[in-house]
Amino acid sequence: MAILKSTLAFLVLAFAFFICYVMSSGSYDYFQFVQQWPPTNCRVRNKPCTKPRPLQNFTIHGLWPSNYSNPRMPSKCTGSLFNFRKVYPQLRSDLKISWPDVESGNDTRFWESEWNKHGRCSEASLNQMQYFERSHAMWISYNITEILKNASIVPSATKNWTYSDIVSPIKRATKRTPLLRCKYDKSTQLLHEVVFCYEYDALKQIDCNGTAGCPNQKVISFQ
Ligand code: 5GP
Repeated sequence: MAILKSTLAFLVLAFAFFICYVMSSGSYDYFQFVQQWPPTNCRVRNKPCTKPRPLQNFTIHGLWPSNYSNPRMPSKCTGSLFNFRKVYPQLRSDLKISWPDVESGNDTRFWESEWNKHGRCSEASLNQMQYFERSHAMWISYNITEILKNASIVPSATKNWTYSDIVSPIKRATKRTPLLRCKYDKSTQLLHEVVFCYEYDALKQIDCNGTAGCPNQKVISFQ
């Protein structure tokens, strides 16, 4: 009887520790995989980007564990801090292509800030190496720049598109609904980011829901 009691007490304690661990590493419902259009990023920020001509393809901004109740990010993330050694050399050269720092060219610092702010919130399901590997694999899986190009949506200073013009070819290619985010330059609404959503395990892509990030039913410029 005494053994049974102490086993039960141990199990209760272990369960309590598990719950504390899950809560302390930030809970989340799904992932937002965010890709950005570098020219928009560079155009709207208050400091010029270091490269005179920004990259002309969508690159990774981040993989964000997210909650449906708080679209931006989970809180209380106490997973481990960024450790450069966990991003092994082959992965580093892959990420330099898919996940460059388009603002100041300091790729490692950009990966560090994204991991520390977002990645460590999901460390219980993806460790650091898996987090960066998976992000690169997501980037490889669909080439947004090509998808848009094949639908004759190419950078232009004069043409404009509707939200659905841009979403439709992406939806056709991925069979999932993405989300678009825009930034304003004066009164011009510029396409800035395309978001894909993934299930909790970051393996299966799902429809993104929630409000569109390019409001007002206003036309979108892609330059
Ligand atoms: P978050 O921190 O929520 O992931 O994204 C917002 C921040 O990411 C902004 O401050 C924005 O400047 C930054 N950001 C977006 N793209 C880049 C980039 O290519 N390099 C760096 N260093 N920061 C970026």
